[in-house]
Amino acid sequence: MKIEDIRAFQPATPGSPKDWRTSLGQMLVTIDTEDGLTGYGVGGGGQAAMHVIETVVGPALTGQDATDVEGLWDAMYSMTLAYGRKGLAIMAISGVDLALWDLRAKRANLPLAHVLGDHVRGTVPAYRTGRSPEAWINEGTEGFAALKLSLAMSGNESVGDVVKRVRRVREALGPDVQLMGDAFMSLDVETTLRIADGLCGVDLGWFEEPLPADDLTGYARLRDECPIPIAGGEHEYTAKAFETLMADRLHSIVQPDVCWCGGLTELVKIYRLGKQYGTRVCPHRGSEVWSLHAICALDPDPLAESGREWMTWVKDQPKIVDGEISLGPGVGFGVRVDSDGDV
Ligand SMILES: [Mg+2]
Repeated sequence: MKIEDIRAFQPATPGSPKDWRTSLGQMLVTIDTEDGLTGYGVGGGGQAAMHVIETVVGPALTGQDATDVEGLWDAMYSMTLAYGRKGLAIMAISGVDLALWDLRAKRANLPLAHVLGDHVRGTVPAYRTGRSPEAWINEGTEGFAALKLSLAMSGNESVGDVVKRVRRVREALGPDVQLMGDAFMSLDVETTLRIADGLCGVDLGWFEEPLPADDLTGYARLRDECPIPIAGGEHEYTAKAFETLMADRLHSIVQPDVCWCGGLTELVKIYRLGKQYGTRVCPHRGSEVWSLHAICALDPDPLAESGREWMTWVKDQPKIVDGEISLGPGVGFGVRVDSDGDV
């Protein structure tokens, strides 16, 4: 199954947030093979990642055997090593790798989850991110048994303000809803510990990305001093880096983003490492098909995070209903894109 053509697009996405996720964000990769199949993947890195694909990865992979997914991953990593390893180049590789996995499953004529494992869950629980405390309090859980709140301090907010808003949601929704919190890499160790102290008794499931991803010394302190389990990894790249987080127990829950961390080849390795080190793997935006197939096939404790609702050019993406999401029937990732990628 020789690769005939690799293309990268940045489809117009009007509802996308006005931040780096638009200018350097989501990117669609399509790969055509000589036997007439097309694989789809979504990476990150926008125009910069497209340049990596158009000038380096695409020309090198064209004419290669698409079935050697892991071998092609190693080749892509090597050919971008001088400027890659983390960030934009790995985001580019992620999109190509996902498209190769889509082709692998399409060639087998199976939904991708069934290529990954023999015991596939058709439906898994989901949690919602990105809704305000007021919306949760006023409109209720909308069927979600788990949800995530912001723990970041905006403007003149104090530690007490953050604690108060989480406590208000807990009081409104009661003890049966699973609550988690996310600080988007915006705090330091002392502030994290003060917030955790203020949230004593709130039963917060995890404290996500309190510190910048590279502050491993700070994460070691939190491992030893924070009473709330630490989650993170959506801004980490490659299974090798995740192994450090697990081996040193810097995170209790790791959250790889399959569209950024190196694709499904790396996510499969991260699940294997999670089993080896006893670390929970809970992929970032896991309800998107790019991670959902792995969650349904490989995850012993599945919980799929809500995804990017604005990415409307991915067609047939399953929706969360009553706090659960089910795999669709299609082969591969089971999705189409607008105009075969020409969007
Ligand atoms: Mg997060």
